[in-house]
Amino acid sequence: MSTYKAPLEDMAFVIDELLEAEQVLGSLPAFADYGVGSELTTALLDEAAKLAGEVLAPLRRVGDEQGATCVDGVVTITPGFSDAIGQLAEGGWIGISANPDFGGQGLPELYGTAANEMWQGSNMAFALHAMLGFGAAMAIEAHASEELKATFLTRMNSGEWAGTMNLTEAGAGSDLGVMKSRAVPEGDHYRVYGQKIFITWGDHEANDNIVHLVLARLPDAPKGSGGISLFVVPKFLVNTDGSLGERNDVYAVSVEHKLGIHGSPTCVMSFGDNDGAIGYLVGEENRGLQCMFTMMNEARLKVGLQGLGSAEGAYQKALVFAHERVQGGVPIVQHADVKRMLLVMNSLIEAMRAFAYTEALTMDLIHNGPESQRQLAQRRLDLMIPVIKAWHTEVGQELTSLGVQVHGGMGYVEETGAAQYLRDVRITSIYEGTNGIQAADLVSRKLGRDGGATMALALADVDATVSELRSVDQPSLQAIAQQLSDALLGLRESTDRILEYLKEDPEVAMGAAFDYLMQTGYVFGGWHMARSALCAQKQIDNGSDREFYPRKIATALFYVNSILPRARGHAGILQQAEGLKQYPVDWL
Ligand SMILES: Cc1cc2nc3c(=O)[nH]c(=O)nc-3n(C[C@H](O)[C@H](O)[C@H](O)COP(=O)(O)OP(=O)(O)OC[C@H]3O[C@@H](n4cnc5c(N)ncnc54)[C@H](O)[C@@H]3O)c2cc1C
Repeated sequence: MSTYKAPLEDMAFVIDELLEAEQVLGSLPAFADYGVGSELTTALLDEAAKLAGEVLAPLRRVGDEQGATCVDGVVTITPGFSDAIGQLAEGGWIGISANPDFGGQGLPELYGTAANEMWQGSNMAFALHAMLGFGAAMAIEAHASEELKATFLTRMNSGEWAGTMNLTEAGAGSDLGVMKSRAVPEGDHYRVYGQKIFITWGDHEANDNIVHLVLARLPDAPKGSGGISLFVVPKFLVNTDGSLGERNDVYAVSVEHKLGIHGSPTCVMSFGDNDGAIGYLVGEENRGLQCMFTMMNEARLKVGLQGLGSAEGAYQKALVFAHERVQGGVPIVQHADVKRMLLVMNSLIEAMRAFAYTEALTMDLIHNGPESQRQLAQRRLDLMIPVIKAWHTEVGQELTSLGVQVHGGMGYVEETGAAQYLRDVRITSIYEGTNGIQAADLVSRKLGRDGGATMALALADVDATVSELRSVDQPSLQAIAQQLSDALLGLRESTDRILEYLKEDPEVAMGAAFDYLMQTGYVFGGWHMARSALCAQKQIDNGSDREFYPRKIATALFYVNSILPRARGHAGILQQAEGLKQYPVDWL
């Protein structure tokens, strides 16, 4: 059976001590009534951890072995998933940070993020259900008419109804501009026609209704991405009194057979094969992609959390195994190479957590912070999201693979469950914009649009941490300062180089983009570990004898000594990016 024990101590450290949620969020009017602080953190994390450990984790293997199927258009999901969906909804977890005016709990995104890490770590295939529903509800809240909001939102946020995202088509993946699905106006609604592929949790019977968000073209719409509109297409139409009406003309055609996340029904969805699926326009005509972009940051943060959560699950399993398995007369955890692998896993996991939660807090400031801070917070988030989406998922793949390695041969066979983490997490670098697309976004849009100004501000924060570390008379912190300072210099140089590439030859910039993104991830991961070490040192200086704090400093030191040097490797590669042009495409 799969087990998962939420890493509550580190989660609470990040929320309460590193990010000082009580001071930063507790003072905001939107959260004034919630009592944000360590008691709330403990209560919420404990409850979420119970659900993750007792309900979701035991279903992880079941989902892998008894994945979703589709027979004659009827999708059947893993036994036990339906009940678990009900339990998540009953606990109010689906809309934990959604607007209370529409049935949400209104809690900070920071708490929603911690809960999400637990869902992803205990059962990623299952967690996608809530993730897609939340994303669809967000898009409706941001762009739909009051009437549509009143019809759909409360029941989506409460978890009574599910939600999906229908973007991809057979010929339109990274380039959505070429999609063919179409929508024809008819009175107060539209008729939607077309086929979408790879639709996560596209159909099932665990919820009474499924609210599909669908991108399609109107007749005579301009070509390309400027001619795509967004529609709500419910599985069952909703009567004016709110009751469910007729079955709409949208059906699952098949469920994909996949490398991982077998418990998540990835469906081919057909719209309008009979009379046309009834849909309602969300936002303005031809601005569908822009509507989707407003919830992209949240969705991409959550995919980053999948990398983090999967790595945490894999680490827990590897750790238990390393203490139990004896080779050479000792538990393998005592062998230096196994120790190394576990330390690599643990230090990167802690860096990813602090990084992701920090940007969740940035989201809270964007939505509910003082007006004067919002614009800067938005720029910061826009810059960091592609890094979190891609770096966390690349690292997630490495760490789940290390989890297999720690198990030796037992990791490669399925019965330990180590391999499932690796198979499941593999998709995270592909969907929600491939990591190649994230790198291009970071370089061409996020860096290019302001000539690196937002990045310069972020790097100034790293600089400030280096100065703070230097002022503490403690050898570990001095060593961390030295490594972080070198890494900062390297990232400044790479940023200048990328900006030059953008001016001189964008093709070279695109060839360098992935290494730049990875370098950025490692450096900011190092920054978060350094901040954590400083925070831990303060507690020690204040007399705390909790073992957690010296361990945190030691983990940060391991990170800067054994992980951060990777940043230099990426920098070296990107300095040579012109070389890519020497290879003609017809050689490949
Ligand atoms: C399990 C699963 C679940 C999914 N869930 C959903 C869902 O719920 N809703 C939905 O709409 N879609 C979903 N998708 C689709 C997913 O988002 C797409 O697969 C993804 O966006 C990539 O598109 P593609 O598969 O067409 O690959 P392509 O776009 O063909 O990409 C192939 C390769 O080319 C690269 N590439 C393409 N264009 C560029 C470029 N301009 N610059 C650099 N590199 C480029 C890519 O990075 C990639 O390496 C899901 C997919 C899977 C497998």
